[in-house]
Amino acid sequence: MKPRPLIAGNWKMNGQLSALTELKNIAAAAGSGLADRRDLLICPPATILSASRGVLGDHVAVGGQDCHQAESGAHTGDISAAMLKDVGARYVIVGHSERRADHGESDALVRAKAEAAMKAGLVAMICVGETEAAREAGETLEVLGVQLAGSLPDGLSGETAVVAYEPVWAIGTGRTPTVADVKQVHDFIRETLSDRFGDAVASAVRILYGGSVKPANAAELLAVDNVDGALVGGASLKASDFIAICEAVA
Ligand code: PEP
Repeated sequence: MKPRPLIAGNWKMNGQLSALTELKNIAAAAGSGLADRRDLLICPPATILSASRGVLGDHVAVGGQDCHQAESGAHTGDISAAMLKDVGARYVIVGHSERRADHGESDALVRAKAEAAMKAGLVAMICVGETEAAREAGETLEVLGVQLAGSLPDGLSGETAVVAYEPVWAIGTGRTPTVADVKQVHDFIRETLSDRFGDAVASAVRILYGGSVKPANAAELLAVDNVDGALVGGASLKASDFIAICEAVA
């Protein structure tokens, strides 16, 4: 059985309290049926996570964009998974390519963060994706295989983890892989999950596609085999675009 689709918005370092009006519009659409056939999630900046939780109501989850791997302690500027949970988060993104690039995050660190998230009772959304150079060199699946092996914790399940495939070269560029390329990668991720965790877990873990998803291309991307939803960056900042993408789920 296919898992229930998940459409997630990643606001990155965008949005202040004034942006809550966009969330009110998303919450209104969710309350009028948008959330009936898919799970909805917004990951705002940590500064407005609590306020976002208050605005989004029962039908849209909120999540963090990163967490520290430790439970607490001397880590100035960092946020623990338990702190995110405390203010109402249900998910946290870990291993986004911008974190991997800007902060030198390794697969081992991403795995430690995912473990911390799961331990705190959050769903870890673990991101993987190849660079343009790796794709051009024909190394996409090899790179993804290494990232998956190193970043996914033992013992994950469909309730505790989501995998997001985000080709680095497609993020924020307006470029997307072909439908055939998306299918090849998502099939590969499902097989990789199956080899390590067994068929039952593999079929329950949602595999999202992310990278320049827009209202105009969402239906095509979301219809691909083994695509169980989308991780949406820029287009999630505007309620009308995010809602249109959610509506594109078949
Ligand atoms: C992202 O950063 O997670 C992302 C998918 O961004 P965009 O949709 O803007 O490409």
